[in-house]
Amino acid sequence: MINGVYKKMKKKLLIVYTGGTIGMKKSPDGWIPASGFLKELMNENRVFRNEVMPDFDILELEPLLDSSDMSPDDWVKIAKVIEQHYTDYQGFVVLHGTDTMAYTASALSFMLEGLEKPVILTGSQIPMMLPRNDATENIIGAMLFAANHEIPEVCVFFDNILLRGCRTQKVNAEGFRAFESPNLPPLGIGGIHIKINRNIVFRSEMDTNGLTVQSQLDTRVGVLWLFPGITGEIVKNYLRPPIKGVVIQAFGSGNGPVSNQAFIQALTEANDRGVVLVDCTQCTVGTVLLADYATGTGMARAGLVSGYDMTPEAALTKLAYLLGKGYSPEEVKQWMNTNMRGEMTVSMT
Ligand code: ASP
Repeated sequence: MINGVYKKMKKKLLIVYTGGTIGMKKSPDGWIPASGFLKELMNENRVFRNEVMPDFDILELEPLLDSSDMSPDDWVKIAKVIEQHYTDYQGFVVLHGTDTMAYTASALSFMLEGLEKPVILTGSQIPMMLPRNDATENIIGAMLFAANHEIPEVCVFFDNILLRGCRTQKVNAEGFRAFESPNLPPLGIGGIHIKINRNIVFRSEMDTNGLTVQSQLDTRVGVLWLFPGITGEIVKNYLRPPIKGVVIQAFGSGNGPVSNQAFIQALTEANDRGVVLVDCTQCTVGTVLLADYATGTGMARAGLVSGYDMTPEAALTKLAYLLGKGYSPEEVKQWMNTNMRGEMTVSMT
């Protein structure tokens, strides 16, 4: 208490810098992340220490990466940093390259079981070192959402919209609106006022015992994009051991070329071997409904489970997470059809 007035305690955030355009420098080979550089730029810019901003520390990962160079080991590294510092901060902002941000956000959504604090990923299309950039604004927005709103989710903040992490996709390689969550409205929008769409903020009822990090991921997973003319041979080769789970990116509402016997045989044989096959759609908007067409029913008969309106990023990382937990193929299939983190729209049959 200061002079009889309670001073509102400032929230404290941890900013985890993993790499990406946001803190890059020019090199003879093109843009590269440079150690210490982003911290320097943020320290020089007084806006980050403005009184309306939360307090923060910056932790830089080693090595800094272009996100196209990231792998599941890097998701584990980020998850462990959050776990290690979980009790010391009220929220986390993860600065990350945009190329694979949707994968990292999806993976973290599953790995951070029992999350009760905001974890917000952001990045930028233009590095902070250039005068006209989207980096400063994206970091400020992510920090304000993380500090001022109760969102116990992994999110992506970009160009004034806050999205559920496991619903996002990178949709634009040059515009500032690089991310969308095509099957879910934004959780928050930054205009003159910051608005939160409270009734869609997800609170898991599954893990209520505090944060546990599932750091075991099974990386024997993949995505197979169907195209007219795909042969049984291609599918058979893709589904060979040691693969354990595959997201099949099918046509429309989950349909495939089921009249092609070799194609169906390759799927059936892999399913019988215990490979979990998840049917997702190539369409950006909408859901898989396998009973709609005979070409969908045939996919279900071959053993595929519906991925409903999950993004391929969410379906792939969910498979790696569930297989990493050591579940049997049947258990993995059941969980794939269960809404665990708000990754799918339920009540669709
Ligand atoms: N290649 C960069 C990355 O993903 C692109 C970006 O950050 O916007 O790290």
